[in-house]
Amino acid sequence: MKLILLGAPGAGKGTVAKLLTELDGSVQISTGDILRGAVAAGSDLGKQAQDFMNRGDLVPDELIMGIMGSRLQEDDCSKGFLLDGFPRTIPQAEALKVLLKDIGITLDMAVNIDVPRDVILDRLTTRRTCENGDCQAIYNVKSNPPKEEGKCDKCGSAVVQRADETTEAISHRLETYNEKTAPLIGFYENEGLVVTVSATSSDDVINAIKAKLAS
Ligand code: ADP
Ligand code: ZN
Repeated sequence: MKLILLGAPGAGKGTVAKLLTELDGSVQISTGDILRGAVAAGSDLGKQAQDFMNRGDLVPDELIMGIMGSRLQEDDCSKGFLLDGFPRTIPQAEALKVLLKDIGITLDMAVNIDVPRDVILDRLTTRRTCENGDCQAIYNVKSNPPKEEGKCDKCGSAVVQRADETTEAISHRLETYNEKTAPLIGFYENEGLVVTVSATSSDDVINAIKAKLAS
C-alpha cells in the first residue's frame, strides 16, 4: 500500500504506520525519525534541523524534499510505503506530487487520523521516546511505560521526554499543524484521496484503513 498519514502531532501516525508495515511489508517513512536520527548522529542534516525541531517549528521544505526525493527512490519503497509526518506543508505536497509522477507512483489514499484535542494534549505530555537514534521506540508514562523505569525494553537505552515535548513546544507544534499542515486535508480532498478516520484506538484506525483498501 502507498499511503500518506495525516493528522496532528500525537494523532497516532507513527503507531498506525508501524502496525501497517506488519500487514504487507510496506515501509514506514517518518521524516521525524529520520531527522531525530540525524540530530543524534550529529550529521550536517541534524545540525541544520535541530534548532527548528527543538522550537517546534517545521524544518525548511528544501531540506525535507532533499531527504524524501532520494528516500522514495530506494528499492524497499517498491513494495509500498507509509508516509508518516510528510508532507507537512502545501509546497511539500506539491513537490511530492511532481516527484511521484516522475517516478511513476500512484498513491492509494491520504488517511486523515482525526483525534480530539484533549486526547492529543494528554498523549503528547505523557509520551516518552527511546533516545537511541536507531530505535526511537515510543512509550507512554500512563498507558505504556517501559518495564524498567526510564529504560527502553527493546534496546536498553534511556527513555526520555523529547526536547520538543515541553508544554510550550507542544502548543507551538499544534499551532503550526493548524496553520501549515491542516490545509493538506483540502489539498488531498481535491485529489480525491482523503479518507477521514475518527478513532482514538490504533486498532480501529487500522481496521478502517483495511476496509477502505478492500473496497
Ligand atoms: P510529531 O508528529 O509528533 O510532531 P514528528 O516526529 O513527525 O513529530 O516531527 C518532529 C519534528 O520534526 C517536527 O516538529 C518538525 O520540526 C520536524 N519535521 C518532521 N517532519 C517534517 C516535515 N515533513 N516538514 C518539516 N518539518 C518536519
Ligand atoms: Zn530503544
